[in-house]
Amino acid sequence: MRRRFLAIFLGLCVSATAQTQVAAKANPRTGAPAKQNPALPPKLVLAIVVDQFRYDYLTRFRSEFTGGFKRMLEQGAVFTNANYDAAPTVTAVGHSTFLTGAMPALSGIVSNTWWDRTVAKSVTSVSDDKTKLLGGNGTGSSPERLLVSTVGDELKISGKGGKVIGISLKDRSAILPAGHMADGAYWFDGQSGNFVSSTFYFSELPGWVRDYNAGHPADKYAGLEWLGHKMPSAGPQLYNAVDSSPFGDELLQALAMHALSAENLGGGPKTDLLTVSYSSVDYVGHRDGPDSPEIHDMVKRVDKLIGALIEAAEARAGRGRVLVAFTADHGATPVPEENQKRKMPGGRLAWNTYRAAAEKALNERFGSGKWISFSADGVIYFSPDPIPGKKLDMAEVQKVAADTIRAQPHIGRVYTRSEIERGALGRDPVDSRVRNGFNPARGPDVLTVADPYYLFSATGTTHGSPYGYDTHVPVIFLGSARIRAGSYAETIGVQDIAPTLATLLAVETPSGNMGRVLTEMLK
Ligand SMILES: [Zn+2]
Ligand SMILES: [Zn+2]
Repeated sequence: MRRRFLAIFLGLCVSATAQTQVAAKANPRTGAPAKQNPALPPKLVLAIVVDQFRYDYLTRFRSEFTGGFKRMLEQGAVFTNANYDAAPTVTAVGHSTFLTGAMPALSGIVSNTWWDRTVAKSVTSVSDDKTKLLGGNGTGSSPERLLVSTVGDELKISGKGGKVIGISLKDRSAILPAGHMADGAYWFDGQSGNFVSSTFYFSELPGWVRDYNAGHPADKYAGLEWLGHKMPSAGPQLYNAVDSSPFGDELLQALAMHALSAENLGGGPKTDLLTVSYSSVDYVGHRDGPDSPEIHDMVKRVDKLIGALIEAAEARAGRGRVLVAFTADHGATPVPEENQKRKMPGGRLAWNTYRAAAEKALNERFGSGKWISFSADGVIYFSPDPIPGKKLDMAEVQKVAADTIRAQPHIGRVYTRSEIERGALGRDPVDSRVRNGFNPARGPDVLTVADPYYLFSATGTTHGSPYGYDTHVPVIFLGSARIRAGSYAETIGVQDIAPTLATLLAVETPSGNMGRVLTEMLK
């Protein structure tokens, strides 16, 4: 019954779309004349991420918003129960899911950093030895490891796309949402204090970026104090410190404003796409936690920045011609000590002790070996030949390690590669998120999920778990006549954003899409 209703509902949506595109045709079901003013296509898509923005920041601080959050909450389509359906809930995974609709199983972006078995070294989601940094020194970055297309890529391929540009403090957060065919992606370099890019995009930085850097924009923050945090004097120390203050987001906002005018975004005949990811809430959140006065202030400030960005975009493209999609790349875990104070569970775990216990058990069972190629909080990649010459059953090796870790305190679940590959996982949210987050070529051999609120982290807080505090994020759409404003309580996934944008833009759905179109908000 429900399926039949859905089919009818989808059918209505299709005919509504057809009407707006062929304005003269009468509705074939009712015979009523079609609307005469079809929605004009967006001239600019603003795809906005705030890094580590828990959903409840919107509800906790709502009465204080005056900028972008106020406007989006009042005039947008607001999804109050959007979650990441994949783990780990980290920056690269969130930013790649946002505009591809693909989770790590298909996108190949399995974490911020992982072990590349083909070259036997650890890589980041965007590291690319073939490229050089432009505007700074060293190796550049590119979207090469992203296996699928983004909305921006599909816009370009369709012929309807103009410029596609990504901006953030972090390379992965600028590069992954923008995609393969982007005209440029820009991020902040803590060594030089410049916004940089890579030779993947062009052979030298565009003039407007060089001009922006030439003014040494970060230097004006030298010596400033914010809520007891004093900025160092100009130089690499300052450039590394601005990240974890409101000044980092101010710097990237200024660059985004420059991009709007210098690249004439929203001013051309085709649809441009600008992705902006505000990073500083994440750095401050890691240090001070989601319940800190610092985060409260950061959220109020990013509200104003987003409001100004939307207004500047509309000043160029016209009101009603800027389509905004807003989300976060993950949430955050409460600081364990704060949680304990309010009688909630939680604590800190040292991953090294879990790893050491696994290695000890493996030595006892199989003989002394060099077991691990790579390991980081909760994950293990085994060496291809741990005891040279001894042919080991690797499924058994995985099981011994997993059983050992599982028997230690505060461990929720431990998964092995062989279990995941043979489909042995259950269907609850935690198992589903682990399955969607696993890519056979790039995923680990053992994967550990601690109990809720327990962190493999010695200070501050972090994110990465498949639990609600890390998966629940805002999703808001604003600015198209085809969007029905309001609050939507249905449970949705962040992977639903990309196919919905593709539908609004009438371009092909990105190639790895695992989501659905949010038809409930479409007129
Ligand atoms: Zn992040
Ligand atoms: Zn983070």
